[in-house]
Amino acid sequence: MSSENQGSVSSNFIKNIINEDLKNNKNDGRVHTRFPPEPNGYLHIGHAKSICLNFGLAKEYDGLCNLRFDDTNPSKEEVEYVESIQEDVRWLGFDWEDRLFYASDYFEKMYEYGVDLVKAGKAFVCDLSGEEIRETRGTLKEPGKESPYRNRSVEENLDLFQRMRSGEFPDGSRVLRAKIDMASPNINMRDPVLYRIAKVKHHRTGDKWCIYPMYDYAHPLSDAYEGITHSICTLEFEDHRPLYDWVLDALDFQPHPQQIEFARLNLTNTVMSKRKLRELVENEAVDGWNDPRMPTICGLRRKGYTPESIRDFCDRIGVAKSNSVVDIALLEHCIREDLKLKAPRMMGVLQPLKVVITNYPEDETEILKAENNPENPEMGHREMIFSREIYIEKEDFMEDPPKKFFRLAPGKEVRLKYAYIIRCDEVIKDSETGDVVELRCSYDPDTKSGSDSSGKKVKGTLHWVSKKESVPARVRLYDHLFLEKENEETGEIVVELNPHSMKELDCALVEFGFKTYDAGQQFQFMRHGYFSLDPIDGIDNDELVFNRIVSLRDTWAKIQKSQK
Ligand code: ATP
Ligand code: MG
Repeated sequence: MSSENQGSVSSNFIKNIINEDLKNNKNDGRVHTRFPPEPNGYLHIGHAKSICLNFGLAKEYDGLCNLRFDDTNPSKEEVEYVESIQEDVRWLGFDWEDRLFYASDYFEKMYEYGVDLVKAGKAFVCDLSGEEIRETRGTLKEPGKESPYRNRSVEENLDLFQRMRSGEFPDGSRVLRAKIDMASPNINMRDPVLYRIAKVKHHRTGDKWCIYPMYDYAHPLSDAYEGITHSICTLEFEDHRPLYDWVLDALDFQPHPQQIEFARLNLTNTVMSKRKLRELVENEAVDGWNDPRMPTICGLRRKGYTPESIRDFCDRIGVAKSNSVVDIALLEHCIREDLKLKAPRMMGVLQPLKVVITNYPEDETEILKAENNPENPEMGHREMIFSREIYIEKEDFMEDPPKKFFRLAPGKEVRLKYAYIIRCDEVIKDSETGDVVELRCSYDPDTKSGSDSSGKKVKGTLHWVSKKESVPARVRLYDHLFLEKENEETGEIVVELNPHSMKELDCALVEFGFKTYDAGQQFQFMRHGYFSLDPIDGIDNDELVFNRIVSLRDTWAKIQKSQK
């Protein structure tokens, strides 16, 4: 299912709007969307929702979707982000073909339209400071006050606007404002600022400009130039829609794109704004934007998430008109679902305990046949080497076990997966610490998996690796980056950084076969969960480095079951 979901967006209210438009032959039956990131940080899973929606709708309606950088705020924007955003959109599986655009490409045209607005008496140069503008804007209950500069002549406005552009005035000294209505019940319509002076170098236009358009002015114009039909954005822009329409109507764009708002994705156990994510990076709370704990696309990719799983997630959460919070367990469910049939099962012992099989000849080894994926027989088999010395998981042995402990204990028997049944005969301890350091066991030659003639039944099956044929590994186990706590007084949910969001185990042992795999690949370590070979540190060293993507315990599936 997950590999086919690209481009099919589950039925939603946006499709109803598009269907209606198509029925009325609005926009000559075209559907043209865009994904408009501001290059001021790395993309996160919330952006993935917008990407899947915009590119998905275009695909479904045989339309087009542009990638457009909304680069109108040069002080926060960087080329590094422009590049990472393209990489992430492509990795998610979407293609803008030759339609990569920048709002900054339109600065000249936007300026000319500013001149047109001035000439039409619909915009004026205002000398109030930012603070004065804020103070005179009024409140939800009270109208704002008209600027004393509101009734400047067209000639004076044209002259001042041109001189703003040519750099005559300092930052913050003047702005271009739309002349709409200071008494409008919508504060966004109270003579909003269209242009500001900022003598800042732009990552594309360099020093060419010292005035920059505001988002509310640049966005509708960029959409209109590109022939966008449906301009999909998040709910906080709902109150800006009248201004979006005003800009395009004032400049006679007919018919013009329609802004449609949907609810942004919020996820439990994380934060989701570029600003907050940047803070985590800058405060070194994480190891960069691509730290596997980050909800960024590059963080999820490094952890081992697949594009299919993220598209499936975006599909399942759907598109709605009211804000909600999605349980991060659903995202984890999606990667389990995607890897279930794809990822080879391998054995990895995270905290090894040595086991010597005393009745197995010292110089003998034998080849065992192990399934690569019991749920997907097409993935075939591999060979595992069995010999006298092996390792099992420390926690699979207890010297003094409780009743329902079905793993190894003194005098007890367990099966080694794909091998034999063994019995624990003797426990060797460190003479100083008293820690268990080795088990002496015996195996029953009649119990070989696949040809067991013993009739023995044991309850526990353990994973293991042989001493000779294993490779050292470092394994990173992750927990949620943020913990959710309820404020006792207000009942409000607050998030705080989880101090134990990563645990690194540095003496794990894994099957030899891992040596043949590439960095970035996903596996299931039997009983431990899904892991990937870290794409950066994974195979460069003497030891392999793994990230745990998710454990096997599917809390989402559990929640779903209990609701049914
Ligand atoms: P942030 O607050 O994280 O910086 P943003 O909205 O400022 O996000 P942009 O780069 O402006 O980030 O976003 C590009 C597109 O992605 C916009 O259309 C925006 O609406 C959408 N988007 C951003 N965050 C989310 C989210 N959490 N869920 C859905 N869409 C989102
Ligand atoms: Mg933004």
